[in-house]
Amino acid sequence: MQQMNEISVKDKKFSVSISEKEIENSVKNLANRINEDYKGKEITFLGILNGSFMFASDLMKNIKNECKISFIKVSSYEGTSTTGTVKQLLGLNEDLEGKDVIIIEDIVDTGLTMKNILEILKPKKPKSVKIATLIFKPESFKEDFKVDYIGFSIPNDFIVGYGLDYDGLGRNLKEIYTLVK
Ligand code: 5GP
Repeated sequence: MQQMNEISVKDKKFSVSISEKEIENSVKNLANRINEDYKGKEITFLGILNGSFMFASDLMKNIKNECKISFIKVSSYEGTSTTGTVKQLLGLNEDLEGKDVIIIEDIVDTGLTMKNILEILKPKKPKSVKIATLIFKPESFKEDFKVDYIGFSIPNDFIVGYGLDYDGLGRNLKEIYTLVK
């Protein structure tokens, strides 16, 4: 019998690991920290598609500063060299020169995707760049940049929900679910 907190996405079983309420509280806390840190400043958010759309939306609703948002979509880094930049599928047209930018990401795993995004931003000459991620996997993180705002640090398990997908599915889930092994 399937447990109440267990679901199937495509061919795999997942169980709830972070509730809707826990996500809501964490997102509000992150927004409050950003509100404090950026007092009086205009913020330019940069959401990384597809996974961050839900987090970006909920985070931005709790921001008190004047703020803008743009989105960027990059290809998976697989097949590119670690030093090469990823392909921009939806490019960055926004003028970021002199702007205080906060990148919004759903999950930082090894950190390679984020490293490439930081490289894309460098020539745009922003005044500052910080990173907000809902989920961080410290055990698999291999890079040396600082992740400034972290919602949840989790073990090295595969998760879906709240924008995160398994093969394109599961992004609509209000909670975050972990793969049942
Ligand atoms: P990184 O470049 O940091 O290793 O990986 C980041 C990307 O890998 C994320 O943007 C996401 O697309 C994917 N990813 C890493 N871990 C997970 C996970 O547990 N679940 C899902 N759905 N995607 C993940």
